[in-house]
Amino acid sequence: MSTIELLTEIPGPRSRTIVARRQAAGARGVPMLTPIAVAHARGCAVTDADGNTLIDFAGGIGALAVGHCPEAVVAAIRAQADELLHMCSIVASYEPFVAVCERLNTIAPGDFAKKTTLLNSGAEAVEAAVKIVRAYTGRQAIIVFEGAYHGRTNLALAMTSKYGMFKHGFGPFAPEIYRLPFPDLFRRPVGLSEDDYLQACIRQLEHALVAQVSPEAVAAIVIEPVQGEGGFIPTPPAFLRRIRELCTEHGMVMVADEVQCGFGRTGKLFAVEHYGLAPDLLITGKSIAGGMPLAAVTGRAEIMDGPHPGGLGGTYIGNPLACAAALAAIDIIRAPAFLSRAEAVGRRLRAGLEGLQLNYPGIIGEVRGLGPMLAIEIVGADGRPDPDTTGAITTEALRRGLITIRAGLNVNCVRFLPPLDIGDADIDEALEVLGAALQAVAGARAEAPA
Ligand code: PMP
Repeated sequence: MSTIELLTEIPGPRSRTIVARRQAAGARGVPMLTPIAVAHARGCAVTDADGNTLIDFAGGIGALAVGHCPEAVVAAIRAQADELLHMCSIVASYEPFVAVCERLNTIAPGDFAKKTTLLNSGAEAVEAAVKIVRAYTGRQAIIVFEGAYHGRTNLALAMTSKYGMFKHGFGPFAPEIYRLPFPDLFRRPVGLSEDDYLQACIRQLEHALVAQVSPEAVAAIVIEPVQGEGGFIPTPPAFLRRIRELCTEHGMVMVADEVQCGFGRTGKLFAVEHYGLAPDLLITGKSIAGGMPLAAVTGRAEIMDGPHPGGLGGTYIGNPLACAAALAAIDIIRAPAFLSRAEAVGRRLRAGLEGLQLNYPGIIGEVRGLGPMLAIEIVGADGRPDPDTTGAITTEALRRGLITIRAGLNVNCVRFLPPLDIGDADIDEALEVLGAALQAVAGARAEAPA
């Protein structure tokens, strides 16, 4: 039995009405990646306002490792709602808040004493991490990378790459942010081997600590172990290991932003586990609480205690409902059976995508990612990034009942963010739809005048 069930065209009339109201009432700055309005959802199945059921591979942009509305998370929220909706952790303590901090201290990589602070969003957590490392080190400079995404608030935006989409018109940006090249093996200069390119990138990183900013001025290097918005590009292990070494050598804090790649997305609880190293600070968000707004910074206790009392906080941070949801979601994700299913999902999805690449080698330039965190990079006839074809593929897939979203500095990747316990039949159905979308787009390309 298929999951996708379409009763009207996509979008249907009710979706169109709600979307028109949104366009009239809501500021246009918040992008709308699909024209559907959703009524309810479970697992990977989303039912829209017209009664159409679609497969969701956007997963709340990576916030739904456990899928939509898992029973245990919903039950935990319901039970908590009967007891305490809000207190403000600045005013008083409540057990779920403490339990989430303890849980994160236990599960975050690194064999050292840890502390945690909770926040409402990934961007807010990134900003808190910057405050923490500056207070601890007494230094100001922050190193980030091309292709990075760290959020939309002003300091986080200064750290985010991809100018046109995210930053246009919003300056001035915060100072003391240094952006270095990120090794994208697929887009390496023609003629260079992967290894030579990687060595050159490492030398560039070392050179930047002479030419751009002195390591004694650097509070932290902030990096996504797998770039998310940048197009699901895993950091090459030698590069991440060199960052770890340089941070240790120069007293710079290594901060891993795992807002998108953490909590099982790569098949391990945290992506850094693939690399066998521990960052000093770990930033988490998105899937931490099954879709409830929560984020965190967890790390070495002495660094976390850098800011003075009163230096961190916020009215809603660690809201009781979000904490109850997080405790339930984290328990689901860290179960060995869940993570081994996530790895199996990755293998099946990758095999399917590589099959599609064989059929459409002129369109899918690369299938890449880590574990089940997978994307395809879409190229034009000349091998260059092709954002238009990418948009056509996601549109055609949506018309057939599969929700996907794009990524990449050039908006030319389709990324896949299914629930990590999705069944084989749903993966296969999604791949079938993607194949049909590619066929439609390839046909249109062939017919287009040269
Ligand atoms: N860091 C990373 C790596 C992200 O992917 C995101 C969100 N896409 C953020 C930070 C910002 O998170 P939020 O949208 O919750 O502010």
